[in-house]
Amino acid sequence: MKSSKTDLSIQQVKGVGPQRARLLAKLGIATIRDALAYLPFRYEDRSHLISVAELRPGNVATVRGKVAACNILRRGEKKFSIYEATLHDGGSYLTVKWFNQPFMQKHVALGRTMVVYGRVRENSRGMPLEMENPEYELLGDDADSQIHTNRVVPVYRITEGISQKQFRKVMFILVQEHATAMEDPVPLYITARNNLPGLGETLRELHFPENARNIIELNSGRSRYHRRLAFDEFFFLALGLAVLKKSGHREKGISFCPAGCLRRDLLKLLPFTLTAAQQRVMEQIGSDMKQPYPMNRLLQGDVGCGKTVVAFAAMLDAVECGYQAALMAPTETLAEQHYLNIRGMIETFRLSGDLRTGGPGAREKERTGECTSDIIVGTQALIQERLTFRKLGLVVIDEQHKFGVMQRALLRKKGLHPDVLIMTATPIPRSLALTLYGDLDCSVISELPPGRKRIATAWVEAERKDEIFAVLKQEISRGRQAYVVYPAIEESETAGLRSVTRGKEAFERKFPEYRIGMLHGRMRPAEREQVMERFRAREIDILVSTTVIEVGVDVPNATVMLIVHAERFGLSQLHQLRGRVGRGVDSSRCILIAYPPVSEDARRRLNVMVQTNDGFRIAEEDLNLRGPGEFLGTRQAGLPDLKNADLIRDAAILGTARQEASDLIAHDEGLLKFSFLKQQLDVFWRGKVDIFNTG
Ligand code: ADP
Ligand code: MG
Repeated sequence: MKSSKTDLSIQQVKGVGPQRARLLAKLGIATIRDALAYLPFRYEDRSHLISVAELRPGNVATVRGKVAACNILRRGEKKFSIYEATLHDGGSYLTVKWFNQPFMQKHVALGRTMVVYGRVRENSRGMPLEMENPEYELLGDDADSQIHTNRVVPVYRITEGISQKQFRKVMFILVQEHATAMEDPVPLYITARNNLPGLGETLRELHFPENARNIIELNSGRSRYHRRLAFDEFFFLALGLAVLKKSGHREKGISFCPAGCLRRDLLKLLPFTLTAAQQRVMEQIGSDMKQPYPMNRLLQGDVGCGKTVVAFAAMLDAVECGYQAALMAPTETLAEQHYLNIRGMIETFRLSGDLRTGGPGAREKERTGECTSDIIVGTQALIQERLTFRKLGLVVIDEQHKFGVMQRALLRKKGLHPDVLIMTATPIPRSLALTLYGDLDCSVISELPPGRKRIATAWVEAERKDEIFAVLKQEISRGRQAYVVYPAIEESETAGLRSVTRGKEAFERKFPEYRIGMLHGRMRPAEREQVMERFRAREIDILVSTTVIEVGVDVPNATVMLIVHAERFGLSQLHQLRGRVGRGVDSSRCILIAYPPVSEDARRRLNVMVQTNDGFRIAEEDLNLRGPGEFLGTRQAGLPDLKNADLIRDAAILGTARQEASDLIAHDEGLLKFSFLKQQLDVFWRGKVDIFNTG
């Protein structure tokens, strides 16, 4: 591996000995390269010199003057001292004071010219104004000039044992000596045509801005130099994903050639015809499955757009070719629900089906041994536990959250090279889809089945119970059914939250004439199944439930969704829950019931729900509200962290970076012409995915 001067230990820098090096190590700085990557977290504009006469108490200002008088005062105990100097800027006088720093006598001596930066106060004795403990710089002192004042000054996160000034000085020397020498991993033609500055200039400017003087831009990370670093991260991320994708295409997979009988039968059995979007996506999947390499496709679409039938058709294709198809869900309950939903179809086609949830409570038999059924439904235990498959050909993964690059690699490690189709429960914001799933091909079902009506949504404070009950009564008297969702199973477990068990009792008292059912994750699967069956058969009017109904439950006659403690739910969860209604021809409503205190964020979430039914818009809002870090959660596992780039702020840069990455990979897949880029890419991805070997 090529090494450069910037990979040298930080101790090579003037002013950094073993002790400082230990302090810097606490900040994650071991090498010169690390230090250069350690950017200021904010900047102060100390570039505007003003005259003492212009100063007003309370200003934070930079002033230049000559020491016209100085004096050290010691009081009481020996240790307490004030060093006081009077600066003259040619017109007026300013008093500057340093407390308990007697050594200042030596630095700030009579006749020296200096620049000070600090907050201006009124002197207790009246005039002149003064500054206490200002940052300062002595002019004519070559080593120090122009570092701490009289410029836009970087402020770093530091650690105990080193002062801001000392740290800044180390960085200054470092930047002077090494920034320009930093080899730029991004090909020059790419930076040039995107009008991005070179890496050396970028680092120099981000530490000690000369050209970038717009303090607001700097502090919000929007200078062109910040953009350059954001580009780099996106570019590295996109390149890595593109390499993964390419190497996936070189793997040996199954080339499915189904006759299409089962699929045709399925379509005949459906009480509806597929939308154009469903047909298009089905073709995309079909053509992937024919390829001699494994399919890696992401299937996106809003709640209720009909992903399940598309996935099931693909599973039938695999089965028709003599392979097994597995469907994986993130939780046991969801796996059970999926199984219930497709069991009927499995039977209709006279196939064998198996449910393997395999949690800690599962029987040994469920977790080990060989799966022989045509269609297997389960959790991710399917790929992790000691299960073997007769002939696994297709894996459909529902709900993207828990499955990342790593999980997909896990399948391959087991020696399995099935086709993989990942279905998202709710849409992913475009920017995230592009980064996180850049190694996948992507299909979007962009329309809902015809006749779907907008679900009228309102959010109300809990005290308006009577209006809510009136709505419920009206719908049920028309023969419709309702869901009521609670955040907790029992009252005690989460202080102050309404629960399903209490809620059920309350509804029974309020509506003795209605049939009330209950559903939650602690019921036995058979019980849950029975309740769902009765709800489907309209033997239950109001189904009181936890979020177990979030995914997969499909009862078109249900037209009301009440969500209790809606302020506690996240946006995608609310959207997902709301998606349980609006599945039939009747118009449906969703009432979000909020209990005080309703935070500002919760209000925004609830308002978004009221404003739109569009899952893609909701996903974008969700990303904006929560920020990428939290939004990604576990999903990011397996991907390198983004330190400089911000998916929201830098969304436009992301597009460019991705374009450049795929262009480059198209021309030079192995990055043979760009060895330093390749090396840095390895460093960026290291510990996550060994991108050049995952193959
Ligand atoms: P998703 O999983 O995308 O949220 P589902 O696959 O559960 O959506 O489908 C939602 C409902 O719409 C189901 O009742 C399904 O049978 C129905 N459906 C699917 N496709 C169509 C279509 N083309 N026309 C009418 N109804 C459809
Ligand atoms: Mg579904």
